[in-house]
Amino acid sequence: MSTHVLLVEDEQNLARGLAFNFESEGYTVEVHERGESALARLLGETAGPDVDLIVLDVMLPGISGLDLLERVRERGIDTPVLMLTARDAERDVIHGLDLGADDYLTKPFSLPVLLARARTLLRRSGGPAGSGRTFRIGDTVVHPDRFEIERGGAIASLTARELDLLALLWERRGRAVSRGQILQEVWDLHPETRTRVVDTFISRLRKLIEPDPGRPQYLHSVRAFGYRLEAD
Ligand code: CA
Repeated sequence: MSTHVLLVEDEQNLARGLAFNFESEGYTVEVHERGESALARLLGETAGPDVDLIVLDVMLPGISGLDLLERVRERGIDTPVLMLTARDAERDVIHGLDLGADDYLTKPFSLPVLLARARTLLRRSGGPAGSGRTFRIGDTVVHPDRFEIERGGAIASLTARELDLLALLWERRGRAVSRGQILQEVWDLHPETRTRVVDTFISRLRKLIEPDPGRPQYLHSVRAFGYRLEAD
């Protein structure tokens, strides 16, 4: 049985993008544009597979994500909930966490981070296989849910952005990823932003995963373009 995600999001483009990314990780996804239909589903009034994770937008056209969350928790349903909130909506975040949301992300967020958070929640809830998945680059094992990497018995911690960058390159391993794409997806910056931040982060990651950071085997520079990860 694959992990089933119930996604409640009224912005169709975002919902499609999220569904695509979850599906390419092997999850099944069911999108609800309105809280009412998601609630009916969660309360068992409409049929469907058991839900392992709820990804819940707070701002919805009918009942809000927070109302939905409150009613679901009132009924004793403890499926993990990852909330999606607007920027500058701290009150929603606090209210949502009080109502029993397990985690939240502020829009705009990057997809690798969303997937890492989803895996953490599934792992915590003892979810099905595929959750808490690690990946390997040479002799380094990356644990996205713990923000850690392990190499030769030593453990180092990663910041959220370092993990995000590494996860992005790993998801597209074997292919060159441009600096602009990285800036956009990891830092939410315009692709043409003039900054060395990507290169700085790459050199930090090389120190963590490369046997000889000066002669990279895994994290390759692609001249005048960006970077490519070779991980097999
Ligand atoms: Ca919305």
